[in-house]
Amino acid sequence: MKTALITGAAGNIGAAVAVALAADGVQLVLADLPAAVDGLAATQRRCEEAGSAAVVMAPFDVTDIDDVRSAVDTATAQVGPAELVFNNAGYQGQFSNIVDADPADVKRVLDINIAGVFNVLQVCAQRLRSVGRPGSIVNTASMAGVSGAPNMGAYSTSKAAVIGLTKSASKDLSPFGIRVNSISPGFIGPGVMWDNQVAQQAAVPSRYYADTPAAVAEQMVGMVPMGRYGSLDEVAAAAVFLLSDAASYLTGINLEISGGAA
Ligand code: NAD
Repeated sequence: MKTALITGAAGNIGAAVAVALAADGVQLVLADLPAAVDGLAATQRRCEEAGSAAVVMAPFDVTDIDDVRSAVDTATAQVGPAELVFNNAGYQGQFSNIVDADPADVKRVLDINIAGVFNVLQVCAQRLRSVGRPGSIVNTASMAGVSGAPNMGAYSTSKAAVIGLTKSASKDLSPFGIRVNSISPGFIGPGVMWDNQVAQQAAVPSRYYADTPAAVAEQMVGMVPMGRYGSLDEVAAAAVFLLSDAASYLTGINLEISGGAA
């Protein structure tokens, strides 16, 4: 039976992937910030209902390497090393033109989305190497990192870095039998994240988006060749595929989940 560690498991995409893996009988280590423990508990309940054999909660901050090491070791003692890692915790940051970006918020975005993803990948790979087990790691990037989203300078930077990390780590970890890939969701909805995104883009004056959420929503959907946003289930299906043995010859790729938008 396989074990998966999922960061950002209290959030929308992390929970969707956790539930999908639970339905396949995977043992789960659900990780998120200590402050998100209620959200983690909600995901834990959904995973148990979906059929996971064991679900462990691991509250830790991905930006603190000591915290990552000790939480991963505690979880390993409970359910064994995680052969599957969904390295997904992230922070979108405040929307603004880059000339107005708040340096403290920029630092927070880069810390969580780059250093945090690096920390989790490194610690999980070290633990797998030490027991000689193969594995599959999927990092969550974003279409913002592929194409550069307006008013999201730090976020776009951080997600491009995740794609670079994915390609580099795939080379370093192939000798240990560990595959590393990333997913890049585009516009995903409906729900809080979609509403938040259109509201924030509408609130920032720019030549790219209108100034009402409804008009921004129409503009965004209009940019997608398939003419709609993607669902959480569609993101989860792509992540689960890359984690699984069905993707056994794939490493170092960035899978764009964007309905054809570039
Ligand atoms: P979300 O806000 O629902 O979930 C993100 C989770 O990460 C939260 O539960 C949060 O507590 C956790 N987190 C933040 N900082 C952390 C830290 N320092 N340590 C541990 N956990 C931390 O957002 P989501 O939509 O589920 O996003 C998940 C991932 O997908 C993120 O990396 C995000 O950038 C990416 N993404 C989302 C979309 C989208 O439209 N939702 C599109 C592209 C990429």
